[in-house]
Amino acid sequence: MNSRADQLKVFFLPFPVSGHMIPMVDLARLFAMHGVNVTIITTPANAFLFQKAIDRDANSGHQIKTHILEFPSAQVGLPEGIENFNMITSHGMSHKLYHALSLLQKPIEQLFQEMTDCIITDMFYPWTVDSAAKLGIPRLVFHTAGYFSQCAASSIKQYAPLLSVNSTADTFLLPDLPDTIEMTTLQLPRWVRTQDGYAQLMDRIRESERQSYGAVVNSFHELESAYEEHYTSITGIKAWSVGPVSLCVNRDAADKVERGNKVAPKENEWLIWLNSKECNSVLYVSFGSLNKFSTAQLIELAHGLDASSHQFIWVVRQKDKDQDEGWLEDFEKHIKESNRGLIIRDWAPQLLILEHQAIGGLVTHCGWNSILEGVTAGLPMITWPLYAEQFYNEKFVTQVIKIGVSVGVTEWRQWDEEAREAVKREEIEKAVIFLMGSGVQAAEMKNRARELGNAARRAIQSSGSSQSNLMSMIKELTSLKCGRS
Ligand code: UDP
Repeated sequence: MNSRADQLKVFFLPFPVSGHMIPMVDLARLFAMHGVNVTIITTPANAFLFQKAIDRDANSGHQIKTHILEFPSAQVGLPEGIENFNMITSHGMSHKLYHALSLLQKPIEQLFQEMTDCIITDMFYPWTVDSAAKLGIPRLVFHTAGYFSQCAASSIKQYAPLLSVNSTADTFLLPDLPDTIEMTTLQLPRWVRTQDGYAQLMDRIRESERQSYGAVVNSFHELESAYEEHYTSITGIKAWSVGPVSLCVNRDAADKVERGNKVAPKENEWLIWLNSKECNSVLYVSFGSLNKFSTAQLIELAHGLDASSHQFIWVVRQKDKDQDEGWLEDFEKHIKESNRGLIIRDWAPQLLILEHQAIGGLVTHCGWNSILEGVTAGLPMITWPLYAEQFYNEKFVTQVIKIGVSVGVTEWRQWDEEAREAVKREEIEKAVIFLMGSGVQAAEMKNRARELGNAARRAIQSSGSSQSNLMSMIKELTSLKCGRS
């Protein structure tokens, strides 16, 4: 460990939504485990979601703490305690939350002046580039998505291939990528298709990325090597792959079960159930932390799973549930009677479930964290992208690393909107039967997934690629600090 005078101090600034906050907290804890003095800047309701893990780390001797800023609820007109995107229930609230975050800029900048050597922030704080420049310290952007999606988005931004097609359903090639990847306009995020306020924010984010000292990426070399190289060549900045951060940090059951810290499911019911199942016989079905499905979609999914005759654990979110629930209760009773399925309400201990030997695959909305957690567990997947960069991630899973099969979603949508068309039960049934079955193609996918899981584990061992990258990044940031003082 460094002597106190040389000890690197890093401030971490997570963006308040589970898919960004969870991996950044993992990253901050990883830094502290390697002798860095870490402060995570957050607000009360967000701190509540991960404070226990931080306290455990601090009690075991790591230099890690949260710095809690008051959340300007009254000023922006949000109810007390609503401080992240998972908690909001309307589009209007989303605007208020962005407003609240903009009000936090000043106190955060003041905090930066209190002696930090480096800032690692989420991409959604592009202004931190200027704050760091004023202080003469490095700002690193933490990418909670992998390299492939950044490269795909950059290809589209630079070459505008969507302008070459006549219809939004026609496919076009994404130029200048290491693999041949085709997409349709319908699969692209709205901000790529229209020049709205969000598109301007994304441009500002890209600009700030290129002005950053470097990028820290939750990925590992063996998973995306070609895209890791392509990313550094198109952005011109350094990039350190240090993932999977979930695997590096969450080593005991308390860490895993509390990660995300929502209400845990009925104690160990899922574990008892999984323990009674054969290896690789159960499909895990989850759509992340933000999605809301229409009742029609939930019904199609229930029928598709049922018709496949395979066993499954399905996480049904609270937001989904506030629709007519009678049919879901009937369905739950039906699958319990046949002992074929289990429904977990709202929040599942995903890391623990995925690593259980009875799990043989997952249905994922292609959030990067879920993909990486599935890869880490060595699992093949059914891809069902919804929003954000998830359609790019689907291409990566199905065409680059080839460990997944698409359920066939055709159109991108906003995270808080419902899809215009539901995925039909027949498509779901077909994908489940393919993935959980014993066909040659599925067996090849399973082998590739298993190999990647092994590679993920090797990457975080002491001579592994991610571990080496982490150590050399910390060394470089420490020598920058020493050079300044
Ligand atoms: N997660 C979880 N339990 C749930 C739902 C989500 O632990 O029931 C975690 C999951 O393990 C992942 C994160 O929340 O780390 C979701 O991130 P992802 O990028 O997959 O999707 P998002 O929610 O951002 O769309």
